[in-house]
Amino acid sequence: MIGRALTRRERVRVRGSTVIDVINPATERVIGAVEPGDVHAAVAAARAAQPGWAALPRAERAAHLGALLDAMSAAAPELAALISAEMGAPLPVAKKVQVGLPLAVLRSMIDILEQPETAETVGNSTIHREPLGVVGAITPWNYPLHQTIAKLAPALAAGNTVVHKPSEVAPLSAARLAELVRQAGLPDGVYNVVHGYGDPTGAALAGHPGIDLISFTGSTAAGRKVAALAAANVTRVALELGGKSANVILPDADLAAAVKVGVGNCYLNSGQTCTAWSRMLVHESRHDEAVELAVAAAAKYTVGDPADPATRLGPLASAAQRDRVLGHIERGLADGATMAFGGGRVPDVGYYVAPVVFAGVDPDAAIAQEEIFGPVLSVISYRDEDDAVRIANSTRYGLAGAVWSASRERAVAVARRLRTGQVDINGGSFNPVAPFGGVGASGYGRELGTFGYEEFTTVKAIQL
Ligand code: NAD
Repeated sequence: MIGRALTRRERVRVRGSTVIDVINPATERVIGAVEPGDVHAAVAAARAAQPGWAALPRAERAAHLGALLDAMSAAAPELAALISAEMGAPLPVAKKVQVGLPLAVLRSMIDILEQPETAETVGNSTIHREPLGVVGAITPWNYPLHQTIAKLAPALAAGNTVVHKPSEVAPLSAARLAELVRQAGLPDGVYNVVHGYGDPTGAALAGHPGIDLISFTGSTAAGRKVAALAAANVTRVALELGGKSANVILPDADLAAAVKVGVGNCYLNSGQTCTAWSRMLVHESRHDEAVELAVAAAAKYTVGDPADPATRLGPLASAAQRDRVLGHIERGLADGATMAFGGGRVPDVGYYVAPVVFAGVDPDAAIAQEEIFGPVLSVISYRDEDDAVRIANSTRYGLAGAVWSASRERAVAVARRLRTGQVDINGGSFNPVAPFGGVGASGYGRELGTFGYEEFTTVKAIQL
């Protein structure tokens, strides 16, 4: 049973029942629809397929994943256009990040599978990594294909089968992926897509006794519910949740570079990135200079049609997300924050929000504490290094962050003090095989690379 998008004719047939329309956020027009699926049937299909899939030699599973990589690579331009249409990313971002990244992640899992299996020895024991069984994957809309592949590729590589509930906001790329899985010749039942809303469909998956691991990416609020549902069955859980990451610019840093890269990081994907450096921490002596640079950088983020090559910021993914972000901006203003940049023109149709730079933000203010998930940057000043670390660690989140300094040693020393899963030094680039995940309200568990692969396995000790 593989979930798929409905054809135009089917859409007309089932409209008025439970069909979920998919809206292009740039045009506000319906571009497709999906029908909620049956979680029990999907779990049954995944359970039936799992022993056979796990019994395949590693080389054969690698060959299957290689066929999927080929199919996805051939469909890359089409996937980028589909993702851009369903969630609004500008086409270059859709190509490079939304599709380029999952291709790299799938490749990295094939690489792991192509290495010979090794069993560690501890005293008189050999330690073996084995599949968990059936993985339930629940994903959001901001990087819909990447978040799917970050779970599907290691889960399948390790010998699990998967039931996936994609976001109801952007489900079309998962429906297309299911077709590519079938086209690539993977056995029936290894990848099962069940469309539907978080509640009831996601909740039914999280609380299903036939699931061995729930791997969830999304908001902290929904992650908490998923973990509670899974606890009833003692189901293992991995949570990749929200963030409020700090970009710590030390006094000796190249301010122009740190601010330019920092603004770009915060605004990537219209700010709908869980790792976004949404708080820029600058020494009080350089605050005003940093704000000036941030405003100049923000002014270059042309808002508009995702298909227009001049566009750097597309719309937010949904009307609800646009309204949420506008609410955060209003709250910031009501709390007395200074809007150094914002309120620019946006197209009349579409869920657009103009980029915003708030200056002199109180680190305890709501806009500096809560995840906004939109193109909103808060510049915060600090007194000294200890103060910077204290502010950086002062939210409930702990996903990512950055440190800039003329001294790499000093930057790394500060990075070690940040309570977060990743830190980039002086613009160090994203590494698709480095462990990705957070602490605190950003969740637990790691994705990507060897750590991500191991997340989808259990350990067995055999005593000799
Ligand atoms: P969301 O939590 O509303 O939805 C995420 C997924 O969970 C969707 O598929 C949704 O249908 C499902 N869901 C919602 N309620 C559920 C419930 N009660 N039971 C089971 N499933 C449920 O989040 P969103 O708005 O789609 O995505 C944005 C959020 O995701 C942001 O907070 C962002 O930071 C976070 N995120 C985190 C990461 C990460 O890796 N840490 C990556 C991307 C997004």
